[in-house]
Amino acid sequence: MAQGVKISAPVVSNAHGSATSKRCKIQTRGVNVYYGDKHALHDVSVDIAEKSVTAFIGPSGCGKSTFLRCINRMNDTIPIARVDGKIELDGQDIYDRGLDVVQLRARVGMVFQKPNPFAKTIFENVAYGPRIHGLARSGTDLNGIVETSLRKAGLWEEVKDRLNQPGTGLSGGQQQRLCIARAIAVEPEVILMDEPCSALDPIATARIEELIDELRENFTIIIVTHSMQQAARVSQRTAFFHLGKLVEEGATEQIFTNPHDKRTQDYITGRFG
Ligand code: ADP
Repeated sequence: MAQGVKISAPVVSNAHGSATSKRCKIQTRGVNVYYGDKHALHDVSVDIAEKSVTAFIGPSGCGKSTFLRCINRMNDTIPIARVDGKIELDGQDIYDRGLDVVQLRARVGMVFQKPNPFAKTIFENVAYGPRIHGLARSGTDLNGIVETSLRKAGLWEEVKDRLNQPGTGLSGGQQQRLCIARAIAVEPEVILMDEPCSALDPIATARIEELIDELRENFTIIIVTHSMQQAARVSQRTAFFHLGKLVEEGATEQIFTNPHDKRTQDYITGRFG
């Protein structure tokens, strides 16, 4: 762990604006990421609060997605990427050699920038994960999981009569909600979202933002967004990154109204982007 880094337990505002202490779900200490010789992320230490939305903001190329991908070890899939430092999920080291990465990715789901449903039916998109993870004891169970997941993703009413049609036939916003249903279906604890609305129109974006607000009751959510407005709308905590460093992390309201660091101030007031 980096010397001199002091991290306080996250205090998260609830929907009514009052402060509530939330348990730490993910703790990172001294995380560095290299792509070959390029040192992309420097010494990131942060506590991520449980059952709340944390937004990662900052200019393009500052390391937001790189850090997000550390949390479910997606950087393992990039041959030149090297991660060091410590990341714990509920106190368990996720880079432990004995850890099953497939299980980790079931606990820490991911939703990508561009909706990426499988070239399968709507039903199969959601059923696939629970089936391979053995979450359903019977076909009836599986039907129930699919329905519940689609309901939680706010998509059930729109698709219940066409579950056997291809997921790729849905609108962009519906496809993204299908991808959220697919992520939810394996009962993750954490959902990572990498600019989930950047390919969507404003109405579909608003629908996803409402959904994120509902989902935080049951899941720990981290969202990378290039939109400060979106961060302010959906998150309770915000982390500002700049040039591969985590500059500061705090209650969203504090970051946007009273940031401690001049770089955050300059960014939120539009001095650089
Ligand atoms: P952000 O999400 O904030 O836009 P990224 O995490 O995508 O930033 O990128 C951080 C830095 O790491 C950038 O300089 C980017 O070019 C570099 N980078 C990201 N992914 C790769 C990769 N797969 N290979 C090499 N360099 C990468």
